[in-house]
Amino acid sequence: MLTNLATRDVETLIHPYTQLAAFRETGPLVLERGQGVWVYDTEGKPYLEGMAGLWCTSLGYSNAELVEAAREQMMRLPFTHLFSGRSHDPAIELAERLKEIAPVPVSKIFFTSSGSEANDTQVKLVWYMNNALGRPQKKKIIARLRGYHGVTVASASLTGLPANHADFDLPIQNILHTSCPHHYRFGEAGESETDYSARLAAELEEMILREGPDTVAAFIAEPVMGAGGAIIPPENYFPAIQAVLDKYDVLLIADEVICGFGRLGTRFGSQRLGMRPDTISVAKAITSAYLPLGAVMIPEGMYQAMLEGSRKIGTFGHGFTYSGHPASCAVAIKTLEIYERDRIVEGVAAKAPRFEARFAGLRDHPLVGEARGLGLIGGLEIVADKATKRQFDPKLGIAAKVVSFAQAEGLIVRSLYGDRIAVCPPLIITEAEIDELFDRLTRALDRAEAWVAG
Ligand code: PLP
Repeated sequence: MLTNLATRDVETLIHPYTQLAAFRETGPLVLERGQGVWVYDTEGKPYLEGMAGLWCTSLGYSNAELVEAAREQMMRLPFTHLFSGRSHDPAIELAERLKEIAPVPVSKIFFTSSGSEANDTQVKLVWYMNNALGRPQKKKIIARLRGYHGVTVASASLTGLPANHADFDLPIQNILHTSCPHHYRFGEAGESETDYSARLAAELEEMILREGPDTVAAFIAEPVMGAGGAIIPPENYFPAIQAVLDKYDVLLIADEVICGFGRLGTRFGSQRLGMRPDTISVAKAITSAYLPLGAVMIPEGMYQAMLEGSRKIGTFGHGFTYSGHPASCAVAIKTLEIYERDRIVEGVAAKAPRFEARFAGLRDHPLVGEARGLGLIGGLEIVADKATKRQFDPKLGIAAKVVSFAQAEGLIVRSLYGDRIAVCPPLIITEAEIDELFDRLTRALDRAEAWVAG
């Protein structure tokens, strides 16, 4: 039985990424308020928010300092823009701060309102830059299968999931995909993680050589793949990939939309996984999701090419009304201040062993093929047969079932492509709450096991 609000929702809203026919039956979970790592539905039932919203509410709910930062800026100057020479102090201050904390030397910041817009901006920047440098053929961008980079036309093209391409005539030209670094699922029998990483690096090199190195501009990657399955790459994967990129003068774009600002126990995910990015996309935790904001971090070389471009080929014709929205920037400044003051990243590093150990503890569960966490993000794969890694018939919807049992247990987690379950709680979660999360998840898995047994 749908509640009144849920019925009104079904009659009025189209939800992002939602199976509309099934949704008409189940309706939405309507949330009303949040506190710390907990959110409450309209009946007052609490849920441990094991997904930090959508991988983003790092400081949890009801943070009065973030609210006050937004209020103060909205009262002072709710809006001005950054087009054609206009500016405002929150954008300037935030850009300075981002440059200070960037994991690699950064020269300039370009603001957007979302991760998709940040990655679209990356595509245009790379293309504009290579036009400016007189090498218009160097346009191809290599992404990875199961990578997730957003849903606008260019960022959806970078995304490597079937649902983002098949029905939209995507990807657009000049975007290619190489393999996903998921050793559990795609490693060959007996192949070590090191050999697997070397194989993927060789595959990338072959792709670059086949396409022609003078046509390949960039490679884009999330440190840990999020929406594609919460997939943690082998330790030596990125160093092996990086060596290939360096050899052929291919830029590395790090999509730090999920991993940026502490998720892996380092300020940026790149630092944890041995990536040396040329340019970086961020969003989500930059404001702890209290207001929308994204950013692209641009190195000096790229900026110089843009300057050259502005003289030779014209204005960089790209930007959004809300690029650097003042209230979003004010909230981001406060968020970054809290990350430092409250030693949030160090806190993640300290709590990570507990989180990772609780993931490892799920490996014995009859439904779990792989369970792996890093920092405060992780994924598990539901399988029908642990020995052969055979999956359930997709029609069974086993991962969605686990999520709905978790919801009944008062826990929010997310099902992803390939019967994977993601966990990505607010960074402020305590060790006791981590235990609570995994206790509830275990009960949800037990209920799913009983449901399968029938
Ligand atoms: N990149 C990554 C790694 C993401 O996880 C997401 C969203 O989940 C995006 C880009 C797109 O961000 P947005 O939904 O803000 O457009």
